[in-house]
Amino acid sequence: MNLIDVYVIVVGLMVGSFLNVCIYRVPRGRSVVQPRSACPHCNHPISALENIPVLSYLLLGRKCRQCGAGISWVYPLVEALTGTLFYLLYIKYGFLTPFWVNIVFFSILVILIFIDLFERLLPNVFTLGGLAFGFVIAPFQSGEFFPNLGPINLSTVLLRYVDSLLGVLMGAGFLWLVAEVYLRVKKIEGMGFGDIKMMAMVGAFLGWQHTWMTILLGSLLGALIGSFYIFVLGRGAKYELPFGSFLAVGAMISTLWGEPLLTAYLSQF
Ligand SMILES: [Zn+2]
Repeated sequence: MNLIDVYVIVVGLMVGSFLNVCIYRVPRGRSVVQPRSACPHCNHPISALENIPVLSYLLLGRKCRQCGAGISWVYPLVEALTGTLFYLLYIKYGFLTPFWVNIVFFSILVILIFIDLFERLLPNVFTLGGLAFGFVIAPFQSGEFFPNLGPINLSTVLLRYVDSLLGVLMGAGFLWLVAEVYLRVKKIEGMGFGDIKMMAMVGAFLGWQHTWMTILLGSLLGALIGSFYIFVLGRGAKYELPFGSFLAVGAMISTLWGEPLLTAYLSQF
């Protein structure tokens, strides 16, 4: 591991620290810029030294220095996860353009994973905001039509936009269809609009092939964890799963290891 690896991880940890702020504040309708972070228990302002990703959590003994209230394990987890994801993206792309595109994409996904997990909510700021961003920067993403990041010319740019648009239509369309069928057959709402908007965003970033893979992986993950909840933990079948979180994890796997997975899958036929 050289200095650049360490640098990428440290930047990831710091971004993760900001993602924590988004995860905590956005569902509560609060600004992510003002005021500075404070202990939610005693309002003690968190100094820079108490705000070092992961390290502060461990050094402070997982407690607020002022009032001793426990600090949630979610904070260091999000930081460590973001650092790891940034590093995995760096390993895959170096500093080529898809690295920069996907650190934004993954940051949005990390936020959505945890907000959906805790609140069963996928805020528009991230789903629709990400959709707009993902579509605009589509030419800089890697993908089927742009595999080796060769010289950018008009036709590759157009193809990337078409791919991105197909991703949006397929991601949102498929989930909408499932929701409709579910509603007609079971007379209950199986999926929220948040999931549909989120898959539109994933489609914009990943193009149509990886969007299918994301839906496949997300559903697989949902089925596995859902069965675990129902059969092992004995929760009722009505227990609402954070499907958005599963789809987000699926999107990450698809981004990082989509090509080898697709090759392995297609070689089965
Ligand atoms: Zn406190």
